[in-house]
Amino acid sequence: MDLRKVLVGMLPAVLAVTAIVPASAGRSEPPRTEFEEGDGAEWTSHDGELSFLAAVDEASDRVVVETIGKTKEGRPLHLVRLGYPAPASRAAALRRPTTLFVCTQHGNEPAGREACLQRLRDLAFTDDAELIAQLKQQTILFVPSANPDGREADARGNSDGTDINRDHLNLETPEGRAMAEVVRDWQPEAVVDLHEYGPSLPALYDDEVLVLWPRNLNVDEDVHAQAKELALDFITKDEETAGYSTDEYGMYELADQDIHQSAGDGDEGIARNTMGLRHSLGILVETRVDGDPRNGPQELEEPAVRLRRVAAHTVAIDATLRFMRERGDAVVRLTSRARARAVEEGRLRNEPVYFGGADNAEPTEEQIQDPPPCGYELSKDQLARLRRTMSLLGIRTRGTYVPMTQQAEPLIPLLLDERGARHSVAAKPDTKC
Ligand SMILES: [Zn+2]
Repeated sequence: MDLRKVLVGMLPAVLAVTAIVPASAGRSEPPRTEFEEGDGAEWTSHDGELSFLAAVDEASDRVVVETIGKTKEGRPLHLVRLGYPAPASRAAALRRPTTLFVCTQHGNEPAGREACLQRLRDLAFTDDAELIAQLKQQTILFVPSANPDGREADARGNSDGTDINRDHLNLETPEGRAMAEVVRDWQPEAVVDLHEYGPSLPALYDDEVLVLWPRNLNVDEDVHAQAKELALDFITKDEETAGYSTDEYGMYELADQDIHQSAGDGDEGIARNTMGLRHSLGILVETRVDGDPRNGPQELEEPAVRLRRVAAHTVAIDATLRFMRERGDAVVRLTSRARARAVEEGRLRNEPVYFGGADNAEPTEEQIQDPPPCGYELSKDQLARLRRTMSLLGIRTRGTYVPMTQQAEPLIPLLLDERGARHSVAAKPDTKC
């Protein structure tokens, strides 16, 4: 190894870290993001994020930053794990409450990422007894930049223009695959996905924070109900208390009349639904990018509006942490019951499969399969094509056969049956059982 080369290679990172961690005689000050340094004048750059994460990782034993993938343009995808005094191992974490925050899947919705960077740092350095107790008993995970190529280009999709937040079932993007693997390996009780919307002119959709739970009808009933409580009784409630106006995502408001519009309602490729189908409380949070829509779009890029958007996301993060402090152990029991119930339903075939509909839209008769098949038979080609996807989704196979008697049961027909709106292959349903 050429040590000189290694040192030169490290130099930019070291300099950047030095810039944001002022050297002091005693304990160093917690690192600050570029967004904080500039008081909202600029979003944190990609390089700024990397040096910030390196500095937090370096300064706190409570944090591990690991690379979970790489984008097409070569940017790393990171998972930040937190615990006290150090993050729990995977085996230990699986028995404890785990929360995952997914930040800025849509590259042109940057506020969630800023909130995540700040909060993961705050957790790494906090002296708050309640939060330290939570870190002792629970695992907190962040994917601080779920779509770094899209962020760099200020675009919704990744560098191929693919919407990652429609790819959580099919897993055709490196970003989707990285997140699927995190969910498989850490089985978080809650997955909170931070987005933004707007500009909202004309002012139909006029609330500052919108929240939604999994609407897909194949999501376990208890997971669905508990996710709705997290969304409404915790996140929405705390946002209102903090002074933000809120609504359910997917509801336009016109002269105070709620008008339903289909904002990806039951779509099984969207994180909030896929995570629900994977027995996590999948939550979507959206902040409005403009200040007051009546003031016009010129307000969009004002630092004060940016700071408010980021602050609204930190409220959502804090509300989720409050939920997990109050209910974490109960939610661990609830999600493990949901996993066991999926296996049982696969065996008993006592719950229908819904190929459409949502918790706010009746499925048609053709969209309901009752009883469901007992499994699906794949061709060798189909198996070869889907082996990695199924592994990442935690779907088990017996040779070319995919039995429904397993935890991933709700995902199987949606991925393998030609009636699924997002099916990857048309496998043969096995109904002779
Ligand atoms: Zn979005």
